[in-house]
Amino acid sequence: MSGPYVTPWRDPPVAAALVVGLPLALVWWAVPEGLPWWRSIAIVSAWGGMGLLLASLVLMVREPRVARFLGGLETAYRWHHRSGVAAYLLLLVHPLALAADAWAESPARAWQALAPWAQSWPVWLGWAALVLLMIGLAATFALNLSYRRWRGLHLVLAAGVPIGLAHVVVLLGSTGSGLALVALALLALGARFVVSDLGVAARPYRVTAVARRAAGVIEASLAPCAAALAVAPGQFVLAAFGEGPHYRGCGEYHPFTVSGVDRDAQLRVAVKALGPCSQRLQDLESGVLVRLQGPFGRFLGARRAEPALWIAGGIGITPFMAALRAGPLDADTTLIYLHREAAGAPFADELAALAAGDPRFELISCATGDRAPDFDALLAQADRLAERMIHVCGPPAMVDALAPRLRARGVAPGAVHFERFDFR
Ligand SMILES: Cc1cc2nc3c(=O)[nH]c(=O)nc-3n(C[C@H](O)[C@H](O)[C@H](O)COP(=O)(O)OP(=O)(O)OC[C@H]3O[C@@H](n4cnc5c(N)ncnc54)[C@H](O)[C@@H]3O)c2cc1C
Repeated sequence: MSGPYVTPWRDPPVAAALVVGLPLALVWWAVPEGLPWWRSIAIVSAWGGMGLLLASLVLMVREPRVARFLGGLETAYRWHHRSGVAAYLLLLVHPLALAADAWAESPARAWQALAPWAQSWPVWLGWAALVLLMIGLAATFALNLSYRRWRGLHLVLAAGVPIGLAHVVVLLGSTGSGLALVALALLALGARFVVSDLGVAARPYRVTAVARRAAGVIEASLAPCAAALAVAPGQFVLAAFGEGPHYRGCGEYHPFTVSGVDRDAQLRVAVKALGPCSQRLQDLESGVLVRLQGPFGRFLGARRAEPALWIAGGIGITPFMAALRAGPLDADTTLIYLHREAAGAPFADELAALAAGDPRFELISCATGDRAPDFDALLAQADRLAERMIHVCGPPAMVDALAPRLRARGVAPGAVHFERFDFR
């Protein structure tokens, strides 16, 4: 995911407005006057929490136009996360406030309000939804969880949403507004599943060539079978690779930044073996059908005439390859390319040839072995740092290590853009 290293309000705040506006609108519309204090809190927290949950659902739709409208996929995901956490906290207040309200009658009534077994099944639905949301959210904060486990637990969280909505509709009866809420939630969940996970609007491409760029790294050329996607260097696509005679596809969409946008509308993607699907892709063959969604992201979109510094870690070289292959550079550009071993770094030869042929392009190639790179020494090699537009792409740890060092050297936050190859 990409962004400047300090973001707050650079994007039109559509996603933020949704997260603030939807719960406020629901609370304004739903909360009756003249109720006891704790009862009012219970109702405000329930509707506010539902509003946040709905906003969070809308923000997880991965459709290129929707993503652009929301200020980019990365912004939408950031607010999806914030809104989900806030929703859970607010929904947790709901039963507690109901118990506090019952306390005025008697402590036994308060306990009854908290004990689901003393309640009817619509209340059980509410508790079930809270538990599912809690499991899903706990996974969100468990940083060491594998991606697949994390995704499974996130699906548990998603299951909590219709159950929570059923709780609301059964308790309130099928009022028009209750049903409108359900419709919006199902629409967002359905859009995410149909548009993104099933990829109904994805464009068909065919693999025309596969080249091995290094041990565990292949690059595939993809030709459009119908209308091509308008992808710019720095953007990424979601790709689902089909089956080949000797190759088994992954059957699910994975994000890959294009490493080349060729004149004949062919795209190139380079894939490093990092897990089950990307490992399988190392055996990809020509002729395989690929479905692509996108384009997403705007990394490198903010390039201007001032000198540039690009910093790539490992397979994070892909957006810069696409930019370099797109034609002559329009500004002096230094690329610091970090990789483990000098021999066999992906694209090393092509980069050396590009640097030899373009006086505006300087390549600083650095093999780090298994040690963490000496970022201070590397940054010292790039002169006029504070005047440069800086783009960083690579593993999250590298991005996190570079951000404070760049800040300490006087680089303005708005001049640094990063792309992390991580989607959580
Ligand atoms: C914006 C972006 C651009 C990327 N560009 C490239 C690229 O140009 N070349 C390249 O080799 N890799 C790229 N990646 C990483 C690539 O998507 C993962 O390596 C790949 O999906 C791993 O899947 P797996 O089943 O092999 O491994 P897993 O073990 O399942 O996953 C390894 C890691 O990949 C990520 N990941 C896995 N599946 C998905 C998914 N469906 N959606 C999102 N993230 C997932 C997770 O962060 C996970 O921790 C990019 C990732 C992102 C978010």
